[in-house]
Amino acid sequence: MITEKIKARPLDGAPVAARIKEEVRAEVEQMVQAHGYRPCLAVVRVGEDPASAVYVRNKVKASEEVGIRSEHLALPETIDAAELLDQIKSLNARDDVDGLLVQLPLPRGIDETAIIDAINPEKDVDGFHPVNAGRLAMGRPVFVPCTPLGIIELLDYNGIDIRGLNACVVGRSQIVGRPMAQLLLQRDATVTICHSRTRDLAAVTRGADLLVAAIGRAGLIGREHIKPGAIVIDVGMNKVSEENEVRALFGDAAEKRLDVVAKRGYTLVGDVNPAEAAAVAGMLTPVPGGVGLLTVAMLMKNTLKAAKLRKRSAL
Ligand code: NAP
Repeated sequence: MITEKIKARPLDGAPVAARIKEEVRAEVEQMVQAHGYRPCLAVVRVGEDPASAVYVRNKVKASEEVGIRSEHLALPETIDAAELLDQIKSLNARDDVDGLLVQLPLPRGIDETAIIDAINPEKDVDGFHPVNAGRLAMGRPVFVPCTPLGIIELLDYNGIDIRGLNACVVGRSQIVGRPMAQLLLQRDATVTICHSRTRDLAAVTRGADLLVAAIGRAGLIGREHIKPGAIVIDVGMNKVSEENEVRALFGDAAEKRLDVVAKRGYTLVGDVNPAEAAAVAGMLTPVPGGVGLLTVAMLMKNTLKAAKLRKRSAL
């Protein structure tokens, strides 16, 4: 069992998410009072994936909290791509819909790229459309994916000066890794991107003052990957249920996590080994309670931004 002293300061997402949502709520209220206009987010879900259902519920709930109107379009698993494209076209055309997102993953057989490409970039509050990815890559961002955007807010909230840091992002997905690297570059970090073909990952990540793990492998980033005192941001959300794995990941805190496993069947762990990282890193985001909370808050902020940009001349 690991009994090392915890050194890393936790970077909690809750106060940052609460502040962002409060700011959005106040602006939405102001928009309603001054212009009689309430922003609207449309969320399209296809099929019955239970995780997607939870994510969509959270998005609808957050919208209610901040006063954004939301529409949830639940479509059957059997829908074909042409019908789904028709639904997107009609939401694109509706003047009262400001933000539009399609919850991923889509059922097999539907080409996600074609669906994302069909969303009007002006309503693309997830920031996944090639126009928005391109704008970000050119240093002229409009809509940026919510998870990396939330990480920048978290760093800013904690007074972390990104400029000049050696930053390493592990993962190059369109949703997290790539936009994260772009945002850090924009904030003048020196950025390295790692992926599954990186040779000697630990040798690269150990050079980082700021390490972002967006991999999807429970606890892959261990002590040997982390520079002493580094800021470690753990994006991963993985389920673990094996007792041995829970003990290896959580050290002294394993008993509490095993209680969670007994109740729920699993506990959530990030891509960073929390017990090892806590002993080496200077700051560390917890899982749960870190980055995950920020994603939905940033979606609210992006939806408000879409409404402001679309209605600029009218308001
Ligand atoms: P993804 O699309 O599967 O991408 C994973 C990336 O990790 C890929 O670029 C892959 O490299 C790289 N990778 C895989 N194994 C590796 C290894 N052994 N060494 C180095 N790199 C490796 O995943 P994602 O959508 O970015 O999500 C990553 C994690 O974040 C997941 O756990 C996901 O659940 C979580 N997530 C959380 C939030 C949140 O709100 N907290 C939001 C989004 C995602 P290749 O490109 O070479 O395959």
